[in-house]
Amino acid sequence: ASPPLGQNVIPLVNKLQDIFSQLGSASTIDLPQVAVVGSQSSGKSSVLEALVGRDFLPRGCDICTRRPLVLQLVQTTRRGDEVVEWGEFLHLPNRRFTDFSAIRKEIQAETDRELGSNKGISDKQIRLKIFSPKVLNITLVDLPGITKVPVGDQPTDIEARIRTMILSYIKHETCIILAVSPANADLANSDALQMARIADPDGSRTIGVITKLDIMDRGTDARNFLLGSVIPLRLGYIGVVNRSQEDITSNRSIQDALMYEEQFFRSRPVYHSLSDRCGIPQLAKKLNQILVQHIRTILPDLKARINTQMVTLQKELATYGELTESKNGQGMLLLGIITKYSQSFSSVVDGKNEEMSTV
Ligand code: GDP
Ligand code: MG
Repeated sequence: ASPPLGQNVIPLVNKLQDIFSQLGSASTIDLPQVAVVGSQSSGKSSVLEALVGRDFLPRGCDICTRRPLVLQLVQTTRRGDEVVEWGEFLHLPNRRFTDFSAIRKEIQAETDRELGSNKGISDKQIRLKIFSPKVLNITLVDLPGITKVPVGDQPTDIEARIRTMILSYIKHETCIILAVSPANADLANSDALQMARIADPDGSRTIGVITKLDIMDRGTDARNFLLGSVIPLRLGYIGVVNRSQEDITSNRSIQDALMYEEQFFRSRPVYHSLSDRCGIPQLAKKLNQILVQHIRTILPDLKARINTQMVTLQKELATYGELTESKNGQGMLLLGIITKYSQSFSSVVDGKNEEMSTV
């Protein structure tokens, strides 16, 4: 199965990119970043992984994510039916990881290289690119979770440090915040929603993600969370079921997990009327809608830029047109070019052209 994130945005972005490359200008469509926030073990890494559709992030019940992981998805062109996907780390240039479990090991190893294995955290990023024909060019950020009590090598002010680190990512207006809260804890205590509210007070770029719907207290369900009646959120909530620790230990695949999730929601009548708010595919859909909306809002600006570029080019073309019609004109044109050239040449010699004279 293909990764759910970006499927219906890819053709749109590709089309725009085509237009720009025909105009000879570089890609100008900056898609927003997506960052996950929440307390430790709320399921942040699991959610990101499910969205990408590949297994490659360290997950677990302990603190796994100890440095920010900046994950850049890079769309490659398809070669026939063959799907070639690989990862590359900034700290290991020129090495292609085609085995995604090796990527996870390298994230762990690189975390330990910087921090040792004793639970310390750092704001020094790990940067990973995933190349695939099936992804949208977008950056996802996996962040350490909020913890309150220092363990291992952690400093006494661990909570404040992690909060500052998270804020430095989610404060940007262009960052979409996935605020991840587990369903088996009270939403009113959610660190994720509290942090998201600081960075995005009017909730215009925060999506609430409720994880662990499968392990709620018996007799309870997440309907009120998903309906926004506990804490309202402008963009709303999506409930998901990720793999449990047991699933991770037994290497359950993402495809399996997605099938299980679908079956979970299908077999629970309380969620039937909320089907547009349940499941990873719905989360991907919501994100895609936000991305399309984002592209729509930047379109007028892109159009204006294309127009100015065209006007300039037309003016330039017009001057050539007049000149090149006659032999005389061609001579003029040549003279003009030579004059321009010799002017810049002499300014280099005179040392007036700062940029070139320092070479
Ligand atoms: P993070 O610390 O927020 O990145 O959380 P992880 O993604 O590493 O997950 C923490 C633990 O919770 C792991 O053992 C996961 O298997 C487990 N977990 C995450 N989401 C779910 C879920 O929806 N259901 C169940 N049963 N376990 C989950
Ligand atoms: Mg994590």
